[in-house]
Parts: sequence; structure tokens; C-alpha cells
Amino acid sequence: MIAGQGTALNSNVLVLNKFYSPIHVLSARKAFCLLCKEAAEVVNVENDTYVVYDFEGWVEQSEIRDELNDFNKDDEWVRSVNFVVQVPRIIRLTNYDRIPRNIVKFNRKNVFLRDNHQCQYCGVDFPYSSLSLDHVMPSSRGGETSWENIVSACLKCNVRKGGRTPLEANMKLTSRPSKPARNPALDRQLAQEKYASWRRFL
Ligand SMILES: [Zn+2]
Repeated sequence: MIAGQGTALNSNVLVLNKFYSPIHVLSARKAFCLLCKEAAEVVNVENDTYVVYDFEGWVEQSEIRDELNDFNKDDEWVRSVNFVVQVPRIIRLTNYDRIPRNIVKFNRKNVFLRDNHQCQYCGVDFPYSSLSLDHVMPSSRGGETSWENIVSACLKCNVRKGGRTPLEANMKLTSRPSKPARNPALDRQLAQEKYASWRRFL
């Protein structure tokens, strides 16, 4: 779309359905596509309430704020020679009326996020690439591959535990694994000031 605006365009945008229920999170790049197609509108939290803009109105609003230097610290902008638009934080799909099922995908990334990238045995933080998945009750003993029986483990702890239960290996879990109530990535973002406006809708 516009060169050199990668960071702003990769920011996250909370997507609401027609009834203002959160459905998912998209990149700003994809959100702009929906806005251009008039499939969505911007929901902007202003002075403790929210105001809705169609794309044209949002661009106009952006131009005014840009001209008046009316910026907040966390605002992000996409600029080109003859165009400036603020990155929205929330959009609403005007024709989407399905109720979200609130399913958190069970995958490696979300297990690591749920566990804050910490080995659940030694409690140390590890980069994504140094973590592995461990069956608390080994699969050879009927342990399920589920939120309740899979934890993040560093390679050292994983090898040490081997095919044993934590009790047999004399290793203690730092917390009891469970299914997260909502997407763990969303929880992480909610903690950032940049996405403070999402809290009202979650
Ligand atoms: Zn460990």
C-alpha cells in the first residue's frame, strides 16, 4: 500500500461484529482493506465514549488532527505525499452478524503464550525456539493432547522428565495447565497502552 509504513500497518486492530462483540484481531493493513471496501467502519474511543466513522470520515478526521498536531503518544499514522490517515484500533464489520464462538486455537504458539514463554518445570523464560511441548501425563500412559495436559517445557526439563509423570520425575509444575478463557495473544496486547481502547469491548 504505502512504502515505509510497515510498523504502523502491522499494528493490530480489534474487529467487532455488527453488534459490537469482538470477533478477532487483524493487521491494520487488512483493516484498511475492509474499510476501503466499505465492509467496515472505524470505532474510535474518544472522551470515554466511542464515535463511529466511515472510511471517508476517518480520513477527514485524520487530516484535521494532523493539521492541528492533535496527537496522542500512542497514535500511529500512515503517510504518503498527498495522504495521511491514522491507524484505527477498532473496526466494526457492518454486515457481519454472527455471534463469535470464542474458540482459542490449541496450537504451539498459544500454549507458549499461555505459559508466558516460561518452562513450566524450572520457571525460566525461554525464547520460542528453545521451548518444547510436554505431556504432563505421558501420552504412552494415556495422557491427552489437550490444554489441560500440555505445558511448555525447556529442552533440558523435557529430557529430564522423559516418559514419567511429574511425581515420578520429582518435578513440580509451576502452575496447573488449563484452557485460556480467551486468546492469550489478545491478553498480551490488552496490557499495552496502545490497545487500551479495546478494553471497553472485551
Ligand atoms: Zn525447564
